[in-house]
Parts: sequence; C-alpha cells; structure tokens
Amino acid sequence: MEHTPLILRANWVLPISQEPLADGEVVVENGQIVEVRPRTAGTGNGVLDFGDAIILPGLINGHCHLEYTALRGENDKVPFFDWIRGLVALKAKLPEEFWLPSALLGVAECLASGITFVSDNTDRGVSVQALAQTGMRGRVYQEIFGIEPQPDDATLLQQLQAKLEAHRQTLQRYEAAERVQLGVSPHAVYTVRDSLLKAVVAFARTENLPISMHAAESSEEVALTRSGSGSFAEMFRQRGIPYLHPRIQPLEYLRQVGVMGADTQLVHCVKVEPREMQALAQTRTQVAHCPRSNARLLTGVAPIAAMRRLGIPIVVGTDSVVSAGTLDLWEEVRFGALAQRAFSISAQPTWKDWVAMVTLEAARAFGIDTQVGSLDAGKRADITVVRTHRLAFANTPDPYAGLVLAAHSSDVALTMVEGMILYQDGVWRTIDVPTVRRTLAEMRSQS
Ligand SMILES: [Zn+2]
Repeated sequence: MEHTPLILRANWVLPISQEPLADGEVVVENGQIVEVRPRTAGTGNGVLDFGDAIILPGLINGHCHLEYTALRGENDKVPFFDWIRGLVALKAKLPEEFWLPSALLGVAECLASGITFVSDNTDRGVSVQALAQTGMRGRVYQEIFGIEPQPDDATLLQQLQAKLEAHRQTLQRYEAAERVQLGVSPHAVYTVRDSLLKAVVAFARTENLPISMHAAESSEEVALTRSGSGSFAEMFRQRGIPYLHPRIQPLEYLRQVGVMGADTQLVHCVKVEPREMQALAQTRTQVAHCPRSNARLLTGVAPIAAMRRLGIPIVVGTDSVVSAGTLDLWEEVRFGALAQRAFSISAQPTWKDWVAMVTLEAARAFGIDTQVGSLDAGKRADITVVRTHRLAFANTPDPYAGLVLAAHSSDVALTMVEGMILYQDGVWRTIDVPTVRRTLAEMRSQS
C-alpha cells in the first residue's frame, strides 16, 4: 500500500458522479482517493502526468469465466446447444492444473483493459485464488450443476459448501476477504434440476450469498421450459434424464422459484417479454448484458435500453473469451452500444450512460458503490487511465464519446486497485505473464 501521496494528472478526469474535469488530477493516499481537483503545479516523484489521457474509475466487468481464457478461438460451434456441448467436451479433456494459469491469464487481460472488478462464475473454483493473489477486486460465484439423477441434491449442496469453505480459507490466507466476495451460481435451467435449484436458492438466502444464473439466453432454453421441446429436451429424453418442464418462459419460472431478488444476477436475458421485465424491475434483479457473446452464439440482442428505462440494474460483461473472443471491456461496450442502436429506433443510452454502466451504475448493482465506482474523496483508489493520443481520439470534445467510440485495451496506460498499481504500460506488477503463457502452451501441447 502506498503511504506517500500519489498524484495522477491528465487532460481529463471523469469522476462519473460529477461533470468531467478538464486538466485535473486525482490524489491517492493509503489506498484511498483523497482529492479530485484542478491540476496543480506540483512535480516530483509522486506525480504521474499522463498528459493526453482520461482518468476514470476502474471498470467493472459484470460477467466473466476467467478460467476459460486459455481456450480462446476453440469450439467455433453454433447454435447455442452445440456450442455449450462443445465447451463441456473441451473442458473434459484438460488437466486440473490447466485452470489456474488460464484464470491468471484472464486476470491479466482484464487488468490490461482497465478492469479493476470482475464478477466471475467459476466451475473449478480457481478464480478465487487468481483474484486473491493478484490484488484484483471481484466477486466469485461458485457454480453448481446437477441435471442427472445422481448425485442427489444433499450431496451436491455439501460439495458446494465444502468449496465455499475452501474459498474462504484461500481469501483469508491472502487477506482478501474484503476485496473478493463470494456467491453461488446454479448454472442454468438446463443444467440444474428444479429441486436442486430450490435447494440452492434456500441455501444462498440463509447464508446471505448473492446468486448468479445464466437465464433466457437462447431459443433452445426457451423451447425447453415453455414446451419441453428442442435440443435440450431431446438430449434429456435420449439420456433418460427426468426433467420437470415448467411450461412457461425461463424468467417466469425463475420468478416462481424465487431466484429473482436484489442480490441476484441473471446473465444474458435476451429472450425477455414485457411482463418479465416488470418482474425484474419489481424485484430489483440485476441483468448482466454480454452483447458480443450473444452475437457470437446467434442468440440475439437483449432489450437493454428498454430494461434500463424500467430501472432494472444493468451491468456489462465480456463473458468468457470462448464466446466473446477477448476480455476487452471497451470492445464490449462499443459493440453493445451499436447493437442496441441497430436493433431499435427508440431512445437509447448516451455515451455517458454506457461509461456509467461499466463504472458507477455497475458498482450500485453489485452493492459496492460506497467503496468504488466513481472518483470521489473517501472511496477506494480503483482507477484506470486511458491514453487518448491516437488519431481516432483527435478533436473529440466529449470524453465519453471518445471512450465508447474509440478506446481499446491497448490505450490503457494504468490500472490501479486500492492504490496499488497492478498494470502500467504493458507491465503487470503481480502476474508473471510470460511464465503463465509458457505453462499453458506446454499443457496444451501435451493434451
Ligand atoms: Zn457465462
């Protein structure tokens, strides 16, 4: 932790909670923001003057699977059902030692994109370790699956509890329990049976753990819950798996089961009807929007502008690289903003709204806005700096427009969590990226 004050200075400071400040600086001390002010004449060791750049709060990646990062470019299958079957087959081929370095590669890619908080859904559990040891902030939802009759619900819940206990010990070991929160993720309606889903929801409520679930993503999922038809239903019949077909839309089913609520995140929500939007709004359920993943898997465009108008908390997530291709949140935001406009002629979020959706609004959705999400005195110093000297930024008077229309990961100059610089100009301070890459390459050549 820095004990001497550090001053970050640039042509633009975007506190998000207030109007942009031209020629400003942010003063950081003891891991906190102590002041946001017009530039001073101070120079010296503690001053980082980025010049042609924008200082803003660290970005919040609303949904990810860090452990799949080393599987980029694999499993180019469509439609959704074939893709998810392909992913399951790919995972089965890989050794247990593969997943931690793969998650570390994901953390490195997030940091290089200016992301300081990642919401991650993990099967193997390794992202807890990856976040704890690298200094990144986040929330990790431990996934649970159970569609085959065995093991039974009680056994699966015991396994979940054991994993959460191991995660708590990992976090304690790194003194990261405040920085990294835990949650649970019943994966989806086609991988978690009705009785198990109800048991997991009851467990989460008792333990005060947030929930994340993939929901209303594909037409195959809708066919399964609405009419017991389609690829998933066919597979269950072939494998003799009994499935309780609720005969309603996926979100209607999740509302009835009690999944919705202010501490629940539903990922994707592409296939949403107006009545279901009302239910999401009434229950303050968070929606994680992953537009590149949805495009890649032919699942459609989520009605985000309409949901946001209803006051549904929206976060933007990259999802894993297996569907989205990269963990560059700037690419995600740009694609999302343009896809919404291509999809609808109604009023759309502004460029500023999109930047807010990956900073302050996301912090509110995760209930961490008293700590992070804006540049305000007293908040934790989770900050990113984006260089704007490239020609694509030239003569853009609105810094929000510049970020949404032009920014890439490669423009990110610095990523800081709690006052610690974790990434600066292509150098990671807490991850040995060349070693991680070499380890992964060796494992892939042997698998
Ligand atoms: Zn996902």
